[in-house]
Amino acid sequence: MNFLPVFLRLKHQPCLVVGGGEVAARKVGLLGRTGAVIRVVAPQLCPALQRLQLEQGIEWRQGQFRTQDLDGVTLVIAATNDAGINRQVSELAGARQIPVNVVDQPALCSFIFPSIIDRSPVVVAVSTGGASPVLARLLRARLETLIPAGYGRLAHLLDSFRETVKQRFSSGRERRHFWERILSGSLPEQVFAGREDRAMTMIREALDADESESEAATGEVFLVGAGPGDPDLLTFRALRLMQMADVVLHDRLVSDEIMDLVRRDAERIYVGKKRDLHSVRQQEISQMMVDLARQGKRVLRLKGGDPFIFGRGGEEIELLAREDIPFQVVPGVTAAAGCASYAGIPLTHRDYAQSVMFVTGHLKDGEPNLNWERLTAPGQTIVIYMGLLGLPILCRRLIEHGLADEMPAAIVEQGTTVRQRVLTGTLATLPEMVSQAEIHAPTLVIVGNVVKLHDTLNWFKPQRLK
Ligand code: SAH
Repeated sequence: MNFLPVFLRLKHQPCLVVGGGEVAARKVGLLGRTGAVIRVVAPQLCPALQRLQLEQGIEWRQGQFRTQDLDGVTLVIAATNDAGINRQVSELAGARQIPVNVVDQPALCSFIFPSIIDRSPVVVAVSTGGASPVLARLLRARLETLIPAGYGRLAHLLDSFRETVKQRFSSGRERRHFWERILSGSLPEQVFAGREDRAMTMIREALDADESESEAATGEVFLVGAGPGDPDLLTFRALRLMQMADVVLHDRLVSDEIMDLVRRDAERIYVGKKRDLHSVRQQEISQMMVDLARQGKRVLRLKGGDPFIFGRGGEEIELLAREDIPFQVVPGVTAAAGCASYAGIPLTHRDYAQSVMFVTGHLKDGEPNLNWERLTAPGQTIVIYMGLLGLPILCRRLIEHGLADEMPAAIVEQGTTVRQRVLTGTLATLPEMVSQAEIHAPTLVIVGNVVKLHDTLNWFKPQRLK
């Protein structure tokens, strides 16, 4: 190890930054987070530093660096673009044994800055010892995705129970086991989901119970939107909960690639509806979730897209709410957003559409049940979910209610997946095009002038492997 990682307490400590440019500003911003008293020496301050001076009240001595600037200083950073001054700062600070950092010159540093992931009070620091700051930053980006934003809140919450836990368990080993039990359960997720109240109740219950009892926790249900197909479009939270689940209820809209990311030993239950298969009815799904959660299981209900957009998510959790089963809902990228992006069709656009409507093309007795007047308003994009079967009649009705025959329209097949295909035409031509092509569900229909942009903005061109 060329450098020892430590965390310095700098609150109220005088720290010197030599230099007035953008690089100095970044260091001042960082130091400011620790509550240090910051002095800057520079002939001029860049706009960012001027702002920091106003907002954080840093001290500025206008002029060139002098030896006396080091008097009484806890730590110094040289961030000028003058190699001579930087070296001088480094040498003088070294002589006085003041920790010194010269930006981008590890040889002149007695300490270096790591890349940090700040979830205060939790802070993760990554360093390559100055060998490759870019590598450190890449690693940091990966860690950012692994450490939920709520980590700081989790640490604060645990801190608030430290004393109580100390009183309850006298030995360090018991305390450690207690915390391990708490943290390996679903408590962290409660905090990440913003439910500190429930998390606190869980800790209190665990403190009251003896060890054997506290194992038998109540389960809960995660209603999670899995997005339109591309696993990369999952949210961090979705992925975390998928890896925690004991049992997963899924249907055909959730792709195999996504199912592969569910915890390996989770039990899988297919509850989908295929037109030719008998579907498990909505109430049965709800009841199943209640029963499984009552057995103490973490139940993952995975839905395509977003659970609250044509996903019946609301209906499925009604029973849970009534039965007092804890649940949380995780949004997903809905098909409209996913397909539009991956087809290069912006749903709104200054020149073409000022509003967008999501509707279902589901037919009842052979007719779509839609508010045509609102649907055909000018300057609006229409996104039709479940519109494949009814496409001919949908297009006909839209024309009858005032849209032009030539209004551009697109169908996106298996959007965001490597099997994605996009067909574009008009309200008059699209149904025929679709009947000629062999189209596989799921498909999404987009109607409006924004469809014209597909030709220029189309960027996603997966290779079809045949
Ligand atoms: N909750 C989902 C929608 C469920 S309804 C969401 O928010 O996306 C099912 C309909 O969604 C399908 O009939 C189809 O119209 C659309 N859909 C879902 N995934 C799709 C995909 N990858 N490509 C195209 N359409 C999709």
